[in-house]
Amino acid sequence: MPHLRNPSPESQTREYLYRSKLPDIAIANDTPLVDYVLERAARFSARPCVIDGKSGTTLTYGQVAVQSARLSASLAARHGLRRGDVVMLLLPNCIEFVLAFLGILRRGAVATTANPFYTAREVCEQARACNARIVITLSPYVPKLAELDPDVVIFTIDAPPPPQDGENSRQDGENSPRRKLVVQPDDVAALPYSSGTTGLPKGVMLTHRGLVTSIAQQVDGANPNIYWTPDDVVLCVLPLFHIYCMNSVFLCSLRVGATILIMPKFEIAELLELIQRHRVTIAPFVPPIVLAIAKNPIVDKYDLSSVRMVLSGAAPLGKELEDAFRARLPLAVLGQGYGMTEAGPVIAMNLAFAKEVFPVKPGSCGTIVRNATAKVVDPETGVSLPHNQAGEICIKGAQIMKGYLNDPEATALTIDKEGWLHTGDVGYIDDNDEVFLVDRVKEIIKFKGFQVAPAEVEAILTSHPCVADAAVIPKKDETAGELPVAFVVIANGFKVSEEELKLFVSQQVVFYKKIHKVYFVDSIPKSPAGKILRKDLRSKLELN
Ligand code: AMP
Repeated sequence: MPHLRNPSPESQTREYLYRSKLPDIAIANDTPLVDYVLERAARFSARPCVIDGKSGTTLTYGQVAVQSARLSASLAARHGLRRGDVVMLLLPNCIEFVLAFLGILRRGAVATTANPFYTAREVCEQARACNARIVITLSPYVPKLAELDPDVVIFTIDAPPPPQDGENSRQDGENSPRRKLVVQPDDVAALPYSSGTTGLPKGVMLTHRGLVTSIAQQVDGANPNIYWTPDDVVLCVLPLFHIYCMNSVFLCSLRVGATILIMPKFEIAELLELIQRHRVTIAPFVPPIVLAIAKNPIVDKYDLSSVRMVLSGAAPLGKELEDAFRARLPLAVLGQGYGMTEAGPVIAMNLAFAKEVFPVKPGSCGTIVRNATAKVVDPETGVSLPHNQAGEICIKGAQIMKGYLNDPEATALTIDKEGWLHTGDVGYIDDNDEVFLVDRVKEIIKFKGFQVAPAEVEAILTSHPCVADAAVIPKKDETAGELPVAFVVIANGFKVSEEELKLFVSQQVVFYKKIHKVYFVDSIPKSPAGKILRKDLRSKLELN
C-alpha cells in the first residue's frame, strides 16, 4: 500500500494535478438550481416524479412543478419569505421534503436541513446558528422547537393552515422573469451542517452555481454510455437531510427525469419489497445497507433483478464486503463514490454506468468528477504528490462550498488561498487516475455514514460537573464502521460511573452520537498548543 514518504527535491517544486477520466463539459451553472433540475419537467410532465413507498402516493413532474411553486408562493404570501431567508427542514424522507426544498429555493431562500431525530438541543442550536426564520416540520417534532424565539414561524405540513384568498395569484409561473431575477448563481441554496475537518458542526454554504455544477458533473454530458435515464427508478432511502441523498439521489434524479421512490427509514424487508414491487433500477446505499443485503438470508426471497446499479458512499466499503455483495447481486454494478458535504459533495465517482469502458476496481472510489481538479498533498509539508503516493486529497472547482456560514476562520482553514478544499482524507490516485482512500487526518467519526463531531460530544462531557477533561475518538466496528468512545479525566474529589456519563450524553444527542465506552484516564494527551493528540489515543485504543 502506498504510504507517506520524504519527497524528492524535484517533487517538492512540481505540482501533480489530477483530472477526471471523462472530458469536461459545458455547464450552465449560472442557472438557478430549480430551473436547472426541472428544465425538462415540461417534457416529462405526465411521468412519475416521486412515489411515497409507504402510501403509494405518486406525484408527476407536472404536479411537483406546480405544487412546489404553490408552496413557494404560500411561504412568501403568509410568512413574507424572501431571498436570503433561511428555512429549516426538520422532516423525514417524504414527498413534502421535495416540494418544500424546491419551494424555498424558488424564492432565493436557503434550505437548512436537520435530522428529525435530533434532540431539542441539537435542533435549536442549528436553527439559532443559521438564524432560521421558518421551520417546516411535522406535528410530532414541534415540541423540539419549544425553546426557539417566538418569532420563528413553525409550519407543520401535516396540519397546514387553510389557503388564503389571493394566495395563488402571487404564484410565479414556470417561466416567470420575476423569479429568474430573484435568484443569483452565487446565492446560497442549501445549508447542510458538517463539522468538516475540525471543531463543531458548521453551516456549509452550497450555492446554486455549486449544486448545478455538482449535478452536471454526475449526470450531464455525453457519457460513454447512457447514465441515468427517465426510465430509471431511484431508491431514496438515505436521509434527504444529508447532502449525499439531497444531491446525488433527489436532485440528480430530477435533472434526469427519473422516478424517486421515497422510503422514510431503512428496514430490510420493506426495502426489498419496494425494490421488487417498483422495479428499482438504481440503489444509492451506504456500507451498512450494503452489509445487510450481502449477509441477510431474507434477500433470497425477493426478486432484485431490476437493480442495475448500486452506489455506495459516505463511509469506507471493505473489499470483502464488496465481493460478498457482488456475489449476492451479480446483475448489478456496484460502484463507490467519495464525497464530503463541503465539496458539494461529490469528489470522485465510479463510472459504473460505463463498466465496459471503465471496469470498477475493488476498493476504488472512482475517478475525480469532471470539470474539477484534484491534488494529493503531504499533510505535514503541503508538497504535491505524484501517482500512487498517499497524502491529503484536495479538490478545486465551481462545485465546492462558498464557505462556512459566519465562520471565515474555519473557512480559511479548509479552503486555502488558491481555492483548494482540503478534505482531511488521506488517499492516493493510481496510474489509472482512480482514487483510493486509506485514512483520515481529521477528527470526524462516521457511524453508519452519519457524522459525529468529537468536539460536540467532548463539550457535553466536560459540561458534567464530575468531568475535568474529555476526548472522543472513533473505535472500529464491523456493523457501524466506527463507534464514538470517550477518554475521560474525573475532576479531583468527584466520582462518576461509566453508565452515568453514557446516559448524560445520550439524553442530549441523536442516537449515533452516543458514547459506546468510557475509558477513565489521568490526563488527555495534548500538543503544546492544547490540541488533543488523537493519534496517541487511537494507539492506546488498539492496545486495549
Ligand atoms: P460527509 O460530509 O458527512 O459526507 O462526510 C464526508 C466524509 O465521509 C469524507 O471526508 C470521508 O472521510 C468519508 N467518506 C465519504 N465517502 C467515502 C468513501 N467512499 N470511502 C471512505 N470514506 C468516505
